[in-house]
Amino acid sequence: MAEEANQPRQFRAEVCKVLRILTNSLYTNREIFLRELISNASDALDKLRYRMNRGESPCETDLPLEIRISMDKVAKTLTITDTGQGMTAEELAENLGTIAKSGSEEFLADLAAAKDGDTQEGVDSEDNQSKGEDAANIIGRFGVGFYSVFMVGSKVAVTSRPAFGDATQAHVWTSDGLGTYTVEPDGAADLKRGTSVKIWLKDDASEFLEKYRLESVIRKHSAFVPFPVFVDDSQVNTQPALWREPKFSITQEQYNGFYKAVTYDAKDPLDVLHISSDAPVQFHALLFTPDNAQEFFGAERDAWGLDLYASRVLIQHHNQELLPEYLAFLKGVVDTEDLPLNISRETLQENMVLRKINQVLVKQMLSHLEKLAKDDTAKYEQFWKLHGRIFKLGYNDFTNRERISALMRFNSSAMTDAEALTSLDAYMERAPQGQKTFWYVVAPNREAARLNPHMERFRRKGLEVLWLYEPVDEFVMDGLGKYKDWEFKSVEMAADDALDSFSDKEQPAHESVAPLSDEERGTFDKLLEKMKEILGDKVKEVRVSHRLADSAAVLVSPDGSMSSSMEKLLKVMRKDDTLPVKVLEVNRDHPLLRNLLRMYQANAEDSMLAHMTQCLFDASLLLDGYLKDPQELAQRSGKLLENAAAWYAEVKKL
Ligand code: ADP
Ligand code: MG
Repeated sequence: MAEEANQPRQFRAEVCKVLRILTNSLYTNREIFLRELISNASDALDKLRYRMNRGESPCETDLPLEIRISMDKVAKTLTITDTGQGMTAEELAENLGTIAKSGSEEFLADLAAAKDGDTQEGVDSEDNQSKGEDAANIIGRFGVGFYSVFMVGSKVAVTSRPAFGDATQAHVWTSDGLGTYTVEPDGAADLKRGTSVKIWLKDDASEFLEKYRLESVIRKHSAFVPFPVFVDDSQVNTQPALWREPKFSITQEQYNGFYKAVTYDAKDPLDVLHISSDAPVQFHALLFTPDNAQEFFGAERDAWGLDLYASRVLIQHHNQELLPEYLAFLKGVVDTEDLPLNISRETLQENMVLRKINQVLVKQMLSHLEKLAKDDTAKYEQFWKLHGRIFKLGYNDFTNRERISALMRFNSSAMTDAEALTSLDAYMERAPQGQKTFWYVVAPNREAARLNPHMERFRRKGLEVLWLYEPVDEFVMDGLGKYKDWEFKSVEMAADDALDSFSDKEQPAHESVAPLSDEERGTFDKLLEKMKEILGDKVKEVRVSHRLADSAAVLVSPDGSMSSSMEKLLKVMRKDDTLPVKVLEVNRDHPLLRNLLRMYQANAEDSMLAHMTQCLFDASLLLDGYLKDPQELAQRSGKLLENAAAWYAEVKKL
């Protein structure tokens, strides 16, 4: 690489785009470039210390682990220097000339989406919209940290001398952030070890030459960096590790500040739990509940976990042994003296100390949530709305299942307010004498749940039904099995006589019709056979329903073994897009069926009978959540409308 070292090299295309946005269109919160550089310096020191703890020896062993910031008001430069592990020439080019591809693509797509409608050019248009966008959010989310330096600098030189290996030659990476960079050997570098970032500040960024300004930015964003940060020889981050302080001495502002500093979240946390434990294991922990939902099921699937410290030394970011998955929404810190400093990351898995801490954290967190649910319902419900999707996975935790079930919240048919939630205990209190089952229905939303034909019997009896809107809920219900001896059951699974012991609270919407004579019943059975013949293989059977009050028909599973939502879920998992073959149950007392009976009696081969049977099936399929052939459905109902309009005009003599 030596020969071509001085040749300017081109940034990758996506880096250029990111740079253009950062340099030209993000004006809010520019100060966070400093946080990014300090956190990179701190990471480099962390890595160095980690390797030292494991027995490797760096060059200049006696050099203190620290970060120093200095300004030159004449040259208008700002320099951030660390004594961390440094970078080789190759690493300079690789780390600073490229960008994690996934991150940058997401970044660009997101910006484009945010600007949609304002400009055709999307991300390439620089003078609009994203001026208001907060740089801290974007940079935090997409990990394009280093490049934020070009928000304030017109030129940047990164000099680095690696701490390990034989070739501890220093190199300097230089760029104006416009498209190219160079990497060359720097023989004169007085840097003993680590990295020094020198920024030639833009004219409008000279505020960062002021000591007080730098100090306030560092206190705001980098107060808890675990290495000393000096500005002109005075240390700025003198705050202690908050988790080791006695609880009574810490203010809410300190907790909030700490949370924002470590998570880069722009919002205060919803809640904090501070734990200090001596037995069965010694540790301090700060557990924050963020005030926004996590993308746990999406891109950030593996970004959860707590920062693990051993005697104040950071061992691992995002350690996942400390928490069960259902508490993955928590952010924070665990610091223990029961782990050796030089523990390897591999042996952290299956580690007894971590397992014990995990158990204590779970117990304390559950108690904390129980208390919150009792003392501050509004805050608890906010927690549930943000993190319930993850917390629900606790149905898997056999030991704590009862407590977790009690903490779950549901929408239900008894709630007139769509946002209102109920606990299982409150449901039990409202239930009539003799009920021993939590009834539920899984539907995409409240309206669909309400219209579900299976709901009719329950409405008539005044029985409450839990309304579940997420496919995973079916697994949750299945997994819970029982709560306080009550079963969980889908309304579809209610046996014909399951509700007989409860009296009617409401009358069906249709006027009651005269019962059919024995002979008519016989004809009705023949009508059902005819309907089966018309529908052919699309249904397994057509039979009389005992569950319907207002609807004409409903589809049910043939063997009653699986609810339709569970079946849908399994079909999605198997990538099976065929229609399920079900039983069509019809309401013998519904006016529609009574008229079909009359038509059948007059002429069993009437084409309108076939047509209407098809339409009835289509409608039931729709209510069951399947719409396979919308064209055919539209065509059929169009034909029906045409006929109905003609008859209407005829009958009304219009
Ligand atoms: P991130 O920190 O999220 O990885 P950055 O853009 O901030 O992304 O930095 C890119 C990479 O450059 C880092 O991952 C690291 O490898 C390297 N780097 C940046 N600053 C330093 C530094 N002061 N010392 C050593 N390596 C650094
Ligand atoms: Mg970084």
